[in-house]
Amino acid sequence: MNNFIEKIPFKKVVLLYIIVAILVGVSLILFIGNAFQDKLAFIYNYHRIYEELENNHNNLESIKDEIKTMSDNSEDVVDVLILNKENKIIYSSKNSEFANQEEFTLNKAEDMSNAYFVNPNNDTAIFRLTTNKELIVNTVLSNFDTEIQKESEDQIFYEPNFDNKQVYLLSYIANHDTGEKIYFINEIHPVENGKMYIKVTLAIMMFFFMIYWVLLALYIYQNALKSKLNPYLWGGITLITNIAGVIIYIIYKQNQKTCFQCGALQDKSHIYCIYCGTKLSETCHTCGSVLNRNDKYCAKCGKKRQN
Ligand SMILES: [Zn+2]
Ligand SMILES: [Zn+2]
Repeated sequence: MNNFIEKIPFKKVVLLYIIVAILVGVSLILFIGNAFQDKLAFIYNYHRIYEELENNHNNLESIKDEIKTMSDNSEDVVDVLILNKENKIIYSSKNSEFANQEEFTLNKAEDMSNAYFVNPNNDTAIFRLTTNKELIVNTVLSNFDTEIQKESEDQIFYEPNFDNKQVYLLSYIANHDTGEKIYFINEIHPVENGKMYIKVTLAIMMFFFMIYWVLLALYIYQNALKSKLNPYLWGGITLITNIAGVIIYIIYKQNQKTCFQCGALQDKSHIYCIYCGTKLSETCHTCGSVLNRNDKYCAKCGKKRQN
């Protein structure tokens, strides 16, 4: 076992590890990016529009084109409605069933979480109010729209015939000066196998992280073995504490002397290596005590250094 670990060529192993990790990482990013392409594009556009509206409420005209592009490119977007102060629809990006009404009003549903709303003119729709961030998280991670449906059923007690109802995610921005509102109405169509892709990706990342963790412990084990320290102790500490163990190990080694011939670690006061007899330190010509590298005079007898 010790022989085997002693022979591991860590420079090569680390290089190989980095190359494989980069290759796998890039492949994963490309694969996930491709699978979630539409979702990511939606998130990017949605976020941009949201920021722009928050910073610049008064310029709704300029943003309609971007809203239209975002809506057209995402099957999750059911509609984006712009309403004036009286809740009259002044713009709809997809002309959905909700845009057929002149006015679009929302009333609170009777529910536990106070997050659900209903539209009096449409008794098949329920709207779950979400924040900007919730909508983004749901867009990527919701496994099935049934998940959202189920959660809604648990929250709303008093809606008869829930089976006939469709739950939409609603996020909105209101301009408090003009009373105008923008409603983003979404329905999540999950990426096929999306959740599995994410799980597999996380598992692969975890696997690489574990390899790193074990490699580090093995490296310290090998180094301790070569330094004639207790490899089980130092390898074990690193296996449990990872980088913290390495730091302790380095500090410990720096307070000792390493034999340049055989690599054994030993007390700083040693003149000769206790394992191979190599001379480790220069000594005072007069009294024979150890001279440190930069000492000009002997610390013990005060005589000038000779070389
Ligand atoms: Zn030695
Ligand atoms: Zn001396």
